[in-house]
Amino acid sequence: MIKNVGIVGAGQMGCGIAHVSALAGYTVTLYDLSSERIEAGLATINGNLARQVSNGKLTDEERRDTLARISGSVDVNDLAPTDLVIEAATEDESVKRKIFGKICPVLKPEALLATNTSSLSITRLAASTDRPEQFMGIHFMNPVPVMKLVELVRGIATGEKTFKTAKDFVASLDKTVTVAEDFPAFIVNRILLPMINEAIYTLYEGVGSVDAIDTAMKLGANHPMGPLQLADFIGLDTCLSIMQVLHDGLADSKYRPCPLLVKYVEAGWLGRKSGRGFYDYRGEVPVPTR
Ligand code: NAD
Repeated sequence: MIKNVGIVGAGQMGCGIAHVSALAGYTVTLYDLSSERIEAGLATINGNLARQVSNGKLTDEERRDTLARISGSVDVNDLAPTDLVIEAATEDESVKRKIFGKICPVLKPEALLATNTSSLSITRLAASTDRPEQFMGIHFMNPVPVMKLVELVRGIATGEKTFKTAKDFVASLDKTVTVAEDFPAFIVNRILLPMINEAIYTLYEGVGSVDAIDTAMKLGANHPMGPLQLADFIGLDTCLSIMQVLHDGLADSKYRPCPLLVKYVEAGWLGRKSGRGFYDYRGEVPVPTR
């Protein structure tokens, strides 16, 4: 029975998962490395809840109660009472392994551990923990409070009880589950990221400008957002790691990350979260950077 949920990483995904979990009545501990990240995260959650109040989806009382169920922490020991921890830190296998090494000794033996990884092997991550049967992938979509889907991914050792508990937990958040096998990037990103990478190649080869490519896909393919706008929204570092995982894991040159994507990441232009990516977000309206 899940009552207390721990979340590692107060970035865009961790905050979204904290938001929907607390709204569904769970007690949430949101852990990150610095109190600045926690404070920024809690402010984002409050802003997103306030938007739901102004849209008439929540009452102000529900907003306050939801926020009161979330406590921020920079001390791993605060994860000790949790029944389920969802790791939503940076998409880097060594970072995630270090986190598991740090939190496993603190957790209750029966606690479940999940990762929100977009692409990494669940089996391999599970093997780096002390509880592979109680480990699985719970992959939320961005923005979490808005997107209906959650992909559930079992590692080779994931127990049936773990899977069922995770499935019931996701259902209690009013999300729809899809089950994916443990192959690089699962279903959504296996299909979505090569399309985004191709849009970046289209820009790199000068076939179209940022504006031309996004307009083409919005009006020509009826996508709600252009692929470059979406890349900025996901985070270009995350996009690059997913392409690298596809490239390494499937060993097919069709997954080669576009050199222009690499260059943007090297420049620290990571998209919305850093203020600049394929668009510059520092002014009133986003301005294409190419
Ligand atoms: P982000 O960069 O917004 O946030 C990552 C957070 O992790 C930061 O706050 C950082 O301080 C924290 N962190 C890093 N190392 C840490 C550590 N050792 N201990 C605790 N916290 C640590 O990233 P994000 O977009 O929220 O992505 C997080 C995860 O969710 C990644 O695995 C990513 O692949 C996955 N994901 C992302 C999206 C998306 O669209 N961005 C969608 C689905 C899944």
